[in-house]
Amino acid sequence: MNIGEKKEMICINCPIGCVVTAEKTADGFIVTGNTCPRGEKYAISELTHPTRTLTTTVRVANREGAYLPVKTSAPISKEKLFDAMKALSTVTVNAPVEQGDVVLPAVCGESDIIATGSIK
Ligand code: SF4
Repeated sequence: MNIGEKKEMICINCPIGCVVTAEKTADGFIVTGNTCPRGEKYAISELTHPTRTLTTTVRVANREGAYLPVKTSAPISKEKLFDAMKALSTVTVNAPVEQGDVVLPAVCGESDIIATGSIK
């Protein structure tokens, strides 16, 4: 972004969905439209290093037709989501699995993929 350029976006941190505007300045960004500080943090992150929490499922090899819900333990770079999904496409787990178990460590060099459910 060039100095003086503005970008408008919807904050996705809560259901209110504030429309926030970030203006690039020589020192960083001026963010307006946010109802709380999380909106400013979100807008700056979106423009400098956008991240997302990945949620999906993996197959349970020893339970026919069963899938385990999983997610990243912390948000990962938005640009790595596709590679993370590709890495997960070959992952299977064996029951029992407990919520919080690491299914795939440091996917794409970032967060662990952890189970968000349990299978006895
Ligand atoms: S700025 Fe705050 S109140 Fe508005 S959507 Fe984001 S988190 Fe919710």
